[in-house]
This record gives sequence, C-alpha cells and structure tokens, in this order.
Amino acid sequence: MSDSFSLYSPDFPNDYCGRFAPSPSGHLHLGSLFTAYAAYWRSLEQHGTFLIRIEDLDFPRCPRPNIPLLCQELQLFGLHSDKKVRVQSEHLGEYHRSIQTLLSNDFAYFCTCTRAQSKEQPCTCWLSNKQARIRTKITLDPDTPHSCKVNITPYLESEELQSFTDANLGVVRQSDLEHSLNPYLTLERADGIIAYNLAVVIDDIEQEITEVVRGADMLDATFLQLPLYELDSVEPPVFCHIPLITDSSGRKLSKQNHAPAVFADYTPRTSTLLCLQLLQESVYHELLQQEDVVTLLQDLEQCEESLTALITDEVSTTLQKKLKAQLRKLAPKEKDEALALLTPTGLTNMLLLVATQAQQAEQAAQREDDYFLDEYDDDDEWADEDDGASSSDSGRENWPQVYYEGIATGTYGPWSKLLALWSRALGEASWQQAQELTATYYALLTRLHTEVIGPHFQVHALPKKPIVL
Ligand code: GLU
Repeated sequence: MSDSFSLYSPDFPNDYCGRFAPSPSGHLHLGSLFTAYAAYWRSLEQHGTFLIRIEDLDFPRCPRPNIPLLCQELQLFGLHSDKKVRVQSEHLGEYHRSIQTLLSNDFAYFCTCTRAQSKEQPCTCWLSNKQARIRTKITLDPDTPHSCKVNITPYLESEELQSFTDANLGVVRQSDLEHSLNPYLTLERADGIIAYNLAVVIDDIEQEITEVVRGADMLDATFLQLPLYELDSVEPPVFCHIPLITDSSGRKLSKQNHAPAVFADYTPRTSTLLCLQLLQESVYHELLQQEDVVTLLQDLEQCEESLTALITDEVSTTLQKKLKAQLRKLAPKEKDEALALLTPTGLTNMLLLVATQAQQAEQAAQREDDYFLDEYDDDDEWADEDDGASSSDSGRENWPQVYYEGIATGTYGPWSKLLALWSRALGEASWQQAQELTATYYALLTRLHTEVIGPHFQVHALPKKPIVL
C-alpha cells in the first residue's frame, strides 16, 4: 500500500466520531445489536462521540413508523445517540445534489440496463455512451426506466485501492473477496431510490465520522465506497469490520433469515453480557473477576428481578389479554411477529420501555416541550378494550396515519395507551415502584457501559472469524 493513501490512523488525530447505522426494517436482532455495541464501546474507549443514523432509503423495506420503534429499542438496550439522530430520508436533496455534481463532472451516467443486463459487464450503456455520455434525461425516452450509475473501474484497478488496512482485520485485499466487484456502481435506482453506497458515504463525510465499525458483510461495500471518497477528494474514515454472528448453518442473523427479536429473549443486562463475551472474551473474563463489577451486575440483576416480580400472574394475564385483543387488528404476519414478543422477558422489557417513556414524557412536560407522542393521543378506547369485544374499527380512519401504522408495526401501540394500560394493570404503588426501579436500572446500566466496558474495550481483541451462535 502506498504511503500517499494511508487509511489507517489508529491515533485519531481529530476527535473520534463513531456511528451505528441500522436500517429500520423491523425489530432489532442479536446480529445488529452486536454491531451496535461494538461501535458504541469503541467510541467510549476513544472518549469520542457516538451517533445513531437511520438508513431508511429503501422505503418499501423500511416503513417510517419503524423509526421511533427502533430508536426506542436501541434506548432500551442502552444505546443513545450523542447528537440528533440523522434519518436518511430527510436528506434526499443532499443525495440528489451530489448525483447532479457527478453527472455534470461527467463521472455519472444514466443507464437503461435491465436487472439481467446489469449483471453483464461492462455495462452496455456505459459503452454506448462512452463517446457522448447521456448527460440529461432529454436524450432518454422519458418512459424508459433508467438508473444513474458511476463507472469506478479506474479506481478499483488502481494500486491504492487494491487493499485497505482494517482496524480489526488488518490488510484486506480485493482479491480476498468472494465475489468480483461490479464497477458500474448504482447511485440512484430506476425506481428513484438512492443507493446505499452513495448515501452512506455522503452521510459519513457530512457527520465527520472518523471510524466506521460495522459487520464484515460490508467488506465488498467498503471497496465500492472508497472510490466515492476519492471522487469527492475526501480522506475516508478508518474501517473496522467485525465478524458476523451466524446461525448453526452458517447463515447471517438477519430479518430475511427470520432472526428472533432480541426484545423477546434478552434484557439489556443479558444482551450486554452476551455481546461482551462474544466480542471481547478475555476482557469479559477479566472484568468478571473484579469485585466492583460483580456487585454492579448483581445490583442490575436484582433490579431486573424486582421489576419482573411486579408483573404477577394476574398482571401478566390482564396485559396479555389486552395486548392480544389489540393485535387482532394486525395482518397475520405482523400479528405473529408481535405475539412472539410477549414472552416473560419481553414483558419485562416492555415495562422498562414504558416506564422510561413515562419518565421522559414527564421531564418533557416539565420543560414544556411538545412531547412528540402527544399528537397521537386518542380517547381511552385502547386501554379499556375488552378481550372478545370486537374492537371497533370505526374511527380508525380518523387516526393520524403514523399512529395507526405504529400500532400495525409493533406491539407497543400508542405510548399513551400503553402507559395507561401498564399503570392500570400494576396499580399505583407498583407503577411507582417500576418507575423507580427503571431509573436505578438505567443508571447502573449506563455505568456498566461507560465506566466498565468502554474503558476496557480492545480493538485487537475483537474476533476475526464468524461467530456461530
Ligand atoms: N444500514 C446498513 C445495515 O443495516 C449498515 C450500513 C453501514 O454500517 O454502513 O446493514
């Protein structure tokens, strides 16, 4: 690797800024939480900033109501963004401007290849347009679907981009990749969706990300993204790819592979410990020998048990009845997904979530903020709904769209209703106790992350091979 293109800067001369950039396609699964913790602990270790960015440009896969649900789940598992969460769909203008610049600089071109043709290389549009590139859509038949691409062949073939130094994997070569890279890189799809590779580079530059910690399934993408930094004459961040968690047949945990939601099976304490053990085995064992860490974990566990104890059989039956009644409105697939969250752990997590939400709503009210969920308030129909009584759909059409979709895509339902349901089911004293326990729990969890794990995080101790769960 030439000195003039040195990617790896372990000293981070500028302030460290890391990020976690999930796509809101559904509930968090262990694979994504694992990456999120790695990125978060690394930024704590570097005393840096940690940002959460929502990558929702593939709109059909990422319904908007999933965004608050995902952010709330991340918060439940102890992850907060140090600055306002950036949502990609709110920055379409920036991506389009960048495409315009690449078009006017003659780097980008319009492509009318079908999906099958796109697999053939070189791209026939690039060839046919080589002499006189189609720079404006005027030269295209308006009815012909077309994408916008850039030919990065010269970059991929350049000496500098044959390899890069990864903070975890060391030198990674293009020739190590399983597949050859398609150098005709899509910037905007024929259906108008901005391509991930373009958006992610623009965002990482815009947010001044110094290190990208992400899953090793993104290695190919890294090689495709490096040329975009070159095109922009911007120094890329450091990359740190962490291994994937796979199921026993070697498949990556993902929504497509029906990975179970962490919400149903792990509390914030147990998911933290499991991911720490998988990511930093030696650190994990070392920390568990320290008396103050053991005490902290015991306190967390006790807090969790006390919260769970508040959900007596009677409370659980009432809640399940009400929640299931609400779920009747969902499509079968959504209903199954939602029902799968109603485990004993899922209920404890839900209690943690609603109690946190109640506290945040109260704090916002004290600051006289507009609490963002208030606008979705309705009458009390939801909390009062009886199992068996057919839930009247009348009025549903009057609900704000997000309110309705929020119910349709998660078990949580509208927060005000969920708060009412839980506080009523628990009774005043227990509800009060739940809020106190939740505040204590999060204070302990924050200490576990910021004072214990973060400072002990070691990049060199990260695993390099896929982890079979
Ligand atoms: N949004 C991508 C995903 O959820 C992550 C991309 C990245 O970290 O660059 O898989």
